[in-house]
Amino acid sequence: MQMGPDGSLEQVLKKIEELWDEEVAFLQDIGRYPSTLGNEGAVQEFIASYFENNLEIETDKFVPDIDKISMLDGFSHVEWSYQDRPVVVGRWRNQGPQIGKSLILQGHIDVVSPEPLSFWKYDPWGSTIVGNKMYGRGIQDMKSGIAAMVFALKAIKELGLNPGADILMKTVIEEECTGNGTLAAIDRGYVADGALIPEPFGLTALQAQVGVIWVRVKVKGAGAHVERADRAVNAIEKAYVLINALAEYRQHINSRLKPFNFTKHAHPLNVNVGVIKSGDWPSNVPAECTFEARIGFYPGTDYREIQNEVKDWLMAAAKNDQWLREVEPEISFYGFEAEGVSLDNNIDLFKVLEQAHQQTTGTDLKYISTTCTTDIRHYNLYYGIPATCYGPVGGNMHGADEWVDLDSVKKVTQTYAAFILKWCGVNRS
Ligand SMILES: [Zn+2]
Repeated sequence: MQMGPDGSLEQVLKKIEELWDEEVAFLQDIGRYPSTLGNEGAVQEFIASYFENNLEIETDKFVPDIDKISMLDGFSHVEWSYQDRPVVVGRWRNQGPQIGKSLILQGHIDVVSPEPLSFWKYDPWGSTIVGNKMYGRGIQDMKSGIAAMVFALKAIKELGLNPGADILMKTVIEEECTGNGTLAAIDRGYVADGALIPEPFGLTALQAQVGVIWVRVKVKGAGAHVERADRAVNAIEKAYVLINALAEYRQHINSRLKPFNFTKHAHPLNVNVGVIKSGDWPSNVPAECTFEARIGFYPGTDYREIQNEVKDWLMAAAKNDQWLREVEPEISFYGFEAEGVSLDNNIDLFKVLEQAHQQTTGTDLKYISTTCTTDIRHYNLYYGIPATCYGPVGGNMHGADEWVDLDSVKKVTQTYAAFILKWCGVNRS
Protein backbone atom coordinates (compact mmCIF):
# COMPACT_ATOMS: atom_id res chain seq x y z
CA MET A 1 0.00 0.00 0.00
CA GLN A 2 1.28 3.44 -0.87
CA MET A 3 1.30 6.04 1.86
CA GLY A 4 0.46 9.64 1.26
CA PRO A 5 3.22 11.75 2.75
CA ASP A 6 0.99 13.62 5.15
CA GLY A 7 -0.77 10.52 6.41
CA SER A 8 2.36 9.13 7.95
CA LEU A 9 4.17 12.25 9.21
CA GLU A 10 2.43 12.26 12.57
CA GLN A 11 3.40 8.64 13.11
CA VAL A 12 6.99 9.36 12.19
CA LEU A 13 7.23 12.39 14.48
CA LYS A 14 5.92 10.23 17.33
CA LYS A 15 8.53 7.60 16.53
CA ILE A 16 11.29 10.24 16.63
CA GLU A 17 10.09 11.17 20.15
CA GLU A 18 10.21 7.52 21.20
CA LEU A 19 13.73 7.12 19.83
CA TRP A 20 15.00 10.40 21.25
CA ASP A 21 17.04 8.97 24.17
CA GLU A 22 18.62 6.54 21.75
CA GLU A 23 19.45 9.37 19.34
CA VAL A 24 21.11 11.38 22.12
CA ALA A 25 23.11 8.31 23.19
CA PHE A 26 24.18 7.74 19.55
CA LEU A 27 25.37 11.34 19.33
CA GLN A 28 27.31 10.92 22.58
CA ASP A 29 28.90 7.73 21.24
CA ILE A 30 30.14 9.27 17.99
CA GLY A 31 31.15 12.46 19.82
CA ARG A 32 33.58 10.49 21.98
CA TYR A 33 35.74 9.49 19.02
CA PRO A 34 38.51 12.07 18.48
CA SER A 35 38.06 12.08 14.70
CA THR A 36 40.49 14.80 13.74
CA LEU A 37 42.27 14.73 10.35
CA GLY A 38 43.91 11.32 9.95
CA ASN A 39 42.00 9.79 12.86
CA GLU A 40 38.58 9.17 11.34
CA GLY A 41 38.97 5.38 11.03
CA ALA A 42 37.57 4.24 14.38
CA VAL A 43 34.36 6.27 14.27
CA GLN A 44 33.81 5.27 10.64
CA GLU A 45 34.05 1.60 11.74
CA PHE A 46 31.45 2.32 14.40
CA ILE A 47 29.11 4.01 11.92
CA ALA A 48 29.54 1.34 9.24
CA SER A 49 28.70 -1.31 11.80
CA TYR A 50 25.68 0.74 12.94
CA PHE A 51 24.39 1.04 9.37
CA GLU A 52 24.86 -2.64 8.74
CA ASN A 53 23.71 -4.19 11.99
CA ASN A 54 21.34 -1.68 13.53
CA LEU A 55 19.76 0.00 10.52
CA GLU A 56 20.24 -3.11 8.37
CA ILE A 57 20.99 -1.20 5.18
CA GLU A 58 23.55 -2.06 2.49
CA THR A 59 26.84 -0.61 3.65
CA ASP A 60 30.03 0.22 1.78
CA LYS A 61 33.23 1.33 3.46
CA PHE A 62 36.07 2.37 1.18
CA VAL A 63 39.27 4.38 1.17
CA PRO A 64 39.45 7.18 -1.41
CA ASP A 65 41.67 6.36 -4.39
CA ILE A 66 43.71 9.49 -4.77
CA ASP A 67 45.04 8.69 -8.24
CA LYS A 68 41.51 8.31 -9.50
CA ILE A 69 39.93 11.36 -7.89
CA SER A 70 42.88 13.65 -8.60
CA MET A 71 41.68 13.74 -12.21
CA LEU A 72 38.28 15.15 -11.25
CA ASP A 73 36.93 18.67 -11.02
CA GLY A 74 36.57 19.61 -7.38
CA PHE A 75 39.69 17.75 -6.26
CA SER A 76 41.98 19.47 -3.76
CA HIS A 77 45.66 18.57 -3.50
CA VAL A 78 46.78 16.80 -0.35
CA GLU A 79 50.09 15.88 1.22
CA TRP A 80 48.92 12.88 3.24
CA SER A 81 47.63 9.36 2.81
CA TYR A 82 44.07 8.04 2.96
CA GLN A 83 45.08 4.78 4.55
CA ASP A 84 42.66 3.64 7.30
CA ARG A 85 40.47 6.67 6.67
CA PRO A 86 37.39 5.30 4.95
CA VAL A 87 34.27 6.96 3.69
CA VAL A 88 31.05 5.14 4.68
CA VAL A 89 27.94 4.92 2.51
CA GLY A 90 24.71 3.17 3.47
CA ARG A 91 21.99 2.56 0.90
CA TRP A 92 18.39 2.04 1.91
CA ARG A 93 17.10 0.54 -1.26
CA ASN A 94 13.65 1.28 -2.57
CA GLN A 95 11.70 -2.02 -2.41
CA GLY A 96 8.37 -1.25 -4.00
CA PRO A 97 7.57 0.86 -7.05
CA GLN A 98 9.69 3.99 -7.40
CA ILE A 99 7.28 6.77 -6.56
CA GLY A 100 9.64 9.58 -5.64
CA LYS A 101 13.14 10.99 -6.03
CA SER A 102 16.30 9.51 -4.61
CA LEU A 103 18.15 11.35 -1.88
CA ILE A 104 21.59 11.70 -0.34
CA LEU A 105 21.91 12.55 3.35
CA GLN A 106 25.48 13.37 4.21
CA GLY A 107 27.63 14.46 7.12
CA HIS A 108 31.35 14.92 7.61
CA ILE A 109 32.89 12.93 10.42
CA ASP A 110 36.17 14.84 10.54
CA VAL A 111 36.48 17.54 13.17
CA VAL A 112 39.05 20.28 13.72
CA SER A 113 41.62 20.12 16.51
CA PRO A 114 40.36 20.96 20.01
CA GLU A 115 43.63 22.72 20.87
CA PRO A 116 44.35 24.55 23.06
CA LEU A 117 42.78 22.12 25.51
CA SER A 118 43.31 24.48 28.44
CA PHE A 119 40.61 26.76 27.01
CA TRP A 120 37.94 24.10 27.49
CA LYS A 121 35.73 23.81 30.54
CA TYR A 122 34.30 20.50 29.27
CA ASP A 123 36.13 17.45 27.96
CA PRO A 124 36.18 17.91 24.16
CA TRP A 125 35.63 14.15 23.77
CA GLY A 126 33.20 13.81 26.70
CA SER A 127 29.84 14.53 24.99
CA THR A 128 28.80 16.24 28.23
CA ILE A 129 25.15 17.22 28.55
CA VAL A 130 24.27 20.27 30.63
CA GLY A 131 20.64 21.32 30.50
CA ASN A 132 19.69 21.37 26.88
CA LYS A 133 23.19 21.56 25.47
CA MET A 134 25.71 18.90 24.56
CA TYR A 135 29.37 19.95 24.56
CA GLY A 136 32.31 18.57 22.63
CA ARG A 137 34.57 19.05 19.61
CA GLY A 138 32.53 18.22 16.55
CA ILE A 139 29.25 17.92 18.46
CA GLN A 140 27.85 20.95 16.66
CA ASP A 141 29.98 20.63 13.51
CA MET A 142 28.65 18.19 12.62
CA LYS A 143 28.06 14.98 14.51
CA SER A 144 24.68 16.27 15.76
CA GLY A 145 23.61 16.60 12.13
CA ILE A 146 24.72 13.04 11.47
CA ALA A 147 22.66 11.82 14.44
CA ALA A 148 19.64 13.72 13.07
CA MET A 149 19.84 12.25 9.56
CA VAL A 150 20.43 8.72 10.89
CA PHE A 151 17.44 8.89 13.22
CA ALA A 152 15.14 10.45 10.65
CA LEU A 153 15.78 7.38 8.53
CA LYS A 154 15.61 5.00 11.49
CA ALA A 155 12.23 6.34 12.64
CA ILE A 156 10.73 5.79 9.18
CA LYS A 157 12.27 2.35 8.94
CA GLU A 158 11.08 1.20 12.35
CA LEU A 159 7.51 1.99 11.36
CA GLY A 160 7.76 -0.58 8.60
CA LEU A 161 7.74 2.05 5.88
CA ASN A 162 9.98 1.96 2.84
CA PRO A 163 11.24 4.90 0.82
CA GLY A 164 9.71 5.38 -2.61
CA ALA A 165 13.24 5.87 -4.00
CA ASP A 166 16.73 5.02 -2.77
CA ILE A 167 18.20 6.91 0.18
CA LEU A 168 21.97 7.09 0.50
CA MET A 169 23.54 8.01 3.81
CA LYS A 170 27.15 9.09 3.69
CA THR A 171 29.64 9.92 6.42
CA VAL A 172 32.66 11.44 4.75
CA ILE A 173 36.17 12.52 5.71
CA GLU A 174 38.01 15.78 4.98
CA GLU A 175 35.22 18.32 4.76
CA GLU A 176 37.38 20.60 6.88
CA CYS A 177 40.35 20.67 4.50
CA THR A 178 39.63 19.36 0.99
CA GLY A 179 36.17 17.86 0.39
CA ASN A 180 37.89 14.87 -1.21
CA GLY A 181 35.82 12.38 0.83
CA THR A 182 32.65 13.64 -0.82
CA LEU A 183 34.27 13.61 -4.24
CA ALA A 184 35.41 10.00 -3.77
CA ALA A 185 31.90 8.88 -2.80
CA ILE A 186 30.35 10.57 -5.83
CA ASP A 187 33.01 9.07 -8.08
CA ARG A 188 32.17 5.61 -6.70
CA GLY A 189 28.71 6.06 -8.13
CA TYR A 190 26.82 7.28 -5.09
CA VAL A 191 24.63 9.90 -6.72
CA ALA A 192 20.96 10.78 -6.36
CA ASP A 193 18.32 13.35 -7.34
CA GLY A 194 19.16 15.66 -4.44
CA ALA A 195 21.33 15.97 -1.34
CA LEU A 196 20.92 17.39 2.16
CA ILE A 197 23.83 18.05 4.48
CA PRO A 198 22.91 18.89 8.10
CA GLU A 199 25.68 21.43 8.71
CA PRO A 200 24.77 23.43 11.82
CA PHE A 201 23.40 26.61 10.27
CA GLY A 202 20.63 27.05 12.82
CA LEU A 203 17.58 25.59 11.01
CA THR A 204 18.16 27.74 7.92
CA ALA A 205 18.77 26.68 4.33
CA LEU A 206 22.09 27.42 2.72
CA GLN A 207 21.74 29.35 -0.51
CA ALA A 208 25.30 30.47 -1.16
CA GLN A 209 28.80 29.91 0.09
CA VAL A 210 32.18 31.42 -0.70
CA GLY A 211 35.09 29.62 -2.29
CA VAL A 212 38.20 28.87 -0.24
CA ILE A 213 41.87 28.26 -1.00
CA TRP A 214 44.81 27.60 1.26
CA VAL A 215 48.20 29.12 0.50
CA ARG A 216 51.64 28.34 1.94
CA VAL A 217 54.42 30.91 1.87
CA LYS A 218 58.02 30.05 2.68
CA VAL A 219 60.44 32.92 3.37
CA LYS A 220 64.18 32.51 3.68
CA GLY A 221 66.37 34.78 5.75
CA ALA A 222 70.06 34.66 6.58
CA GLY A 223 70.44 33.16 10.02
CA ALA A 224 73.08 34.05 12.61
CA HIS A 225 73.62 34.50 16.30
CA VAL A 226 71.79 37.58 17.55
CA GLU A 227 75.10 39.29 18.33
CA ARG A 228 75.72 39.57 14.56
CA ALA A 229 72.06 40.32 13.89
CA ASP A 230 72.84 43.46 11.95
CA ARG A 231 74.35 41.26 9.25
CA ALA A 232 71.61 38.65 9.43
CA VAL A 233 68.15 38.74 7.91
CA ASN A 234 65.37 37.63 10.20
CA ALA A 235 62.98 35.32 8.31
CA ILE A 236 60.12 36.01 10.74
CA GLU A 237 60.44 39.75 10.17
CA LYS A 238 60.51 39.19 6.40
CA ALA A 239 57.47 36.93 6.61
CA TYR A 240 55.67 39.85 8.21
CA VAL A 241 56.16 41.90 5.08
CA LEU A 242 54.03 39.32 3.28
CA ILE A 243 51.55 38.80 6.13
CA ASN A 244 50.93 42.55 6.06
CA ALA A 245 50.48 42.34 2.30
CA LEU A 246 47.79 39.69 2.85
CA ALA A 247 46.00 42.04 5.25
CA GLU A 248 45.97 44.65 2.48
CA TYR A 249 44.72 42.01 0.04
CA ARG A 250 41.84 41.28 2.42
CA GLN A 251 40.84 44.94 2.41
CA HIS A 252 41.20 45.08 -1.34
CA ILE A 253 38.91 42.12 -2.06
CA ASN A 254 36.29 43.22 0.45
CA SER A 255 36.14 46.67 -1.10
CA ARG A 256 34.97 45.17 -4.40
CA LEU A 257 31.29 45.11 -5.30
CA LYS A 258 29.57 42.32 -3.35
CA PRO A 259 27.50 39.82 -5.31
CA PHE A 260 23.78 39.59 -4.54
CA ASN A 261 23.93 36.83 -1.94
CA PHE A 262 26.62 38.53 0.12
CA THR A 263 25.42 42.13 0.34
CA LYS A 264 24.29 41.65 3.95
CA HIS A 265 27.75 40.55 5.09
CA ALA A 266 29.93 43.45 6.22
CA HIS A 267 33.07 41.46 5.51
CA PRO A 268 32.31 38.40 3.37
CA LEU A 269 35.83 37.41 2.37
CA ASN A 270 38.02 36.38 5.23
CA VAL A 271 41.76 36.03 4.90
CA ASN A 272 43.18 34.17 7.87
CA VAL A 273 46.80 33.38 8.67
CA GLY A 274 46.26 30.13 10.54
CA VAL A 275 49.75 28.61 10.82
CA ILE A 276 53.20 30.10 11.29
CA LYS A 277 56.34 28.06 11.82
CA SER A 278 59.82 29.34 12.43
CA GLY A 279 62.75 29.47 14.78
CA ASP A 280 63.92 27.35 17.67
CA TRP A 281 65.95 29.61 19.93
CA PRO A 282 65.34 33.14 21.25
CA SER A 283 68.96 34.12 20.67
CA ASN A 284 69.19 32.86 17.09
CA VAL A 285 68.05 34.76 14.04
CA PRO A 286 65.63 32.41 12.29
CA ALA A 287 66.74 31.38 8.81
CA GLU A 288 63.35 30.26 7.53
CA CYS A 289 59.71 31.06 8.21
CA THR A 290 56.66 29.37 6.71
CA PHE A 291 53.13 30.57 7.13
CA GLU A 292 49.83 29.29 5.81
CA ALA A 293 46.63 31.19 5.19
CA ARG A 294 43.05 30.58 4.20
CA ILE A 295 41.53 32.92 1.63
CA GLY A 296 37.87 33.32 0.71
CA PHE A 297 36.49 34.36 -2.69
CA TYR A 298 33.09 34.81 -4.32
CA PRO A 299 31.13 32.19 -6.26
CA GLY A 300 31.56 32.19 -10.02
CA THR A 301 35.35 32.44 -10.01
CA ASP A 302 37.77 29.66 -10.91
CA TYR A 303 39.98 28.88 -7.91
CA ARG A 304 43.06 28.99 -10.15
CA GLU A 305 42.34 32.62 -10.93
CA ILE A 306 42.41 33.38 -7.20
CA GLN A 307 45.59 31.38 -6.68
CA ASN A 308 47.24 33.47 -9.40
CA GLU A 309 45.89 36.71 -7.97
CA VAL A 310 47.22 35.90 -4.50
CA LYS A 311 50.58 34.85 -5.90
CA ASP A 312 50.86 38.07 -7.94
CA TRP A 313 49.84 40.18 -4.94
CA LEU A 314 52.49 38.60 -2.69
CA MET A 315 55.21 38.79 -5.35
CA ALA A 316 54.43 42.48 -5.89
CA ALA A 317 54.91 43.05 -2.16
CA ALA A 318 58.15 41.06 -2.28
CA LYS A 319 59.43 43.30 -5.11
CA ASN A 320 59.14 46.30 -2.77
CA ASP A 321 61.42 44.72 -0.21
CA GLN A 322 65.14 44.77 -0.80
CA TRP A 323 65.77 41.30 0.61
CA LEU A 324 62.66 39.55 -0.74
CA ARG A 325 63.35 40.95 -4.17
CA GLU A 326 66.59 38.97 -4.20
CA VAL A 327 65.54 35.93 -2.22
CA GLU A 328 62.02 35.38 -3.51
CA PRO A 329 59.43 33.71 -1.31
CA GLU A 330 58.19 30.25 -2.32
CA ILE A 331 54.43 30.29 -2.75
CA SER A 332 52.50 27.04 -3.04
CA PHE A 333 48.97 25.73 -2.61
CA TYR A 334 47.55 22.65 -0.93
CA GLY A 335 44.30 21.68 0.77
CA PHE A 336 41.16 23.58 -0.24
CA GLU A 337 40.79 24.39 -3.90
CA ALA A 338 37.10 24.95 -3.33
CA GLU A 339 34.92 27.10 -5.55
CA GLY A 340 31.94 29.08 -4.30
CA VAL A 341 28.28 28.21 -4.85
CA SER A 342 25.23 30.36 -5.39
CA LEU A 343 21.86 28.63 -5.77
CA ASP A 344 18.51 29.62 -7.18
CA ASN A 345 16.06 28.99 -4.33
CA ASN A 346 13.24 28.40 -6.75
CA ILE A 347 14.08 24.70 -7.13
CA ASP A 348 12.22 21.62 -5.88
CA LEU A 349 14.79 20.81 -3.23
CA PHE A 350 14.12 24.13 -1.49
CA LYS A 351 10.36 23.96 -2.02
CA VAL A 352 10.21 20.58 -0.30
CA LEU A 353 12.54 21.74 2.46
CA GLU A 354 10.40 24.84 3.00
CA GLN A 355 7.34 22.64 3.42
CA ALA A 356 9.10 20.16 5.74
CA HIS A 357 10.47 23.00 7.90
CA GLN A 358 7.05 24.63 8.08
CA GLN A 359 5.43 21.31 9.08
CA THR A 360 7.82 20.70 11.97
CA THR A 361 8.53 24.22 13.24
CA GLY A 362 5.46 26.19 12.19
CA THR A 363 7.71 28.92 10.81
CA ASP A 364 8.88 30.00 7.36
CA LEU A 365 12.25 28.71 6.24
CA LYS A 366 14.97 31.34 6.15
CA TYR A 367 17.88 31.33 3.74
CA ILE A 368 21.48 32.19 4.49
CA SER A 369 24.75 32.75 2.68
CA THR A 370 27.86 31.67 4.46
CA THR A 371 31.42 32.96 4.43
CA CYS A 372 32.76 29.43 4.71
CA THR A 373 32.67 26.40 2.40
CA THR A 374 30.78 23.10 2.66
CA ASP A 375 30.63 19.89 0.66
CA ILE A 376 27.49 20.98 -1.23
CA ARG A 377 29.79 22.44 -3.87
CA HIS A 378 30.70 19.12 -5.48
CA TYR A 379 27.08 18.14 -6.00
CA ASN A 380 25.92 21.50 -7.32
CA LEU A 381 28.94 22.54 -9.39
CA TYR A 382 30.21 19.34 -10.98
CA TYR A 383 27.41 16.75 -10.90
CA GLY A 384 24.18 18.68 -11.43
CA ILE A 385 22.74 17.39 -8.16
CA PRO A 386 20.91 20.08 -6.18
CA ALA A 387 22.29 20.12 -2.64
CA THR A 388 21.91 22.36 0.39
CA CYS A 389 22.61 22.42 4.11
CA TYR A 390 20.02 22.51 6.87
CA GLY A 391 21.08 21.62 10.40
CA PRO A 392 20.90 22.35 14.12
CA VAL A 393 21.59 25.38 16.29
CA GLY A 394 24.82 25.54 18.25
CA GLY A 395 27.76 27.67 19.23
CA ASN A 396 31.54 27.97 19.57
CA MET A 397 32.07 26.07 16.33
CA HIS A 398 35.79 25.33 15.92
CA GLY A 399 36.39 26.98 19.33
CA ALA A 400 36.50 25.86 22.96
CA ASP A 401 33.32 24.43 24.51
CA GLU A 402 31.59 23.87 21.18
CA TRP A 403 27.97 22.94 21.84
CA VAL A 404 24.73 22.00 20.16
CA ASP A 405 21.19 22.77 21.23
CA LEU A 406 19.53 19.36 21.61
CA ASP A 407 15.99 20.62 20.92
CA SER A 408 17.18 21.85 17.55
CA VAL A 409 18.72 18.44 16.83
CA LYS A 410 15.29 16.92 17.34
CA LYS A 411 13.78 19.54 15.03
CA VAL A 412 16.30 18.71 12.33
CA THR A 413 15.52 15.01 12.73
CA GLN A 414 11.82 15.79 12.28
CA THR A 415 12.38 18.07 9.31
CA TYR A 416 14.55 15.47 7.58
CA ALA A 417 11.88 12.83 8.16
CA ALA A 418 9.20 15.12 6.72
CA PHE A 419 11.50 15.88 3.80
CA ILE A 420 12.06 12.18 3.07
CA LEU A 421 8.32 11.45 3.11
CA LYS A 422 7.67 14.17 0.57
CA TRP A 423 10.78 13.89 -1.61
CA CYS A 424 11.12 10.11 -1.77
CA GLY A 425 7.55 9.11 -0.97
CA VAL A 426 6.98 5.96 1.10
CA ASN A 427 5.67 2.47 0.53
CA ARG A 428 4.44 0.05 3.17
CA SER A 429 6.75 -2.93 3.30
ZN1 LIG B 1 30.99 21.31 9.13
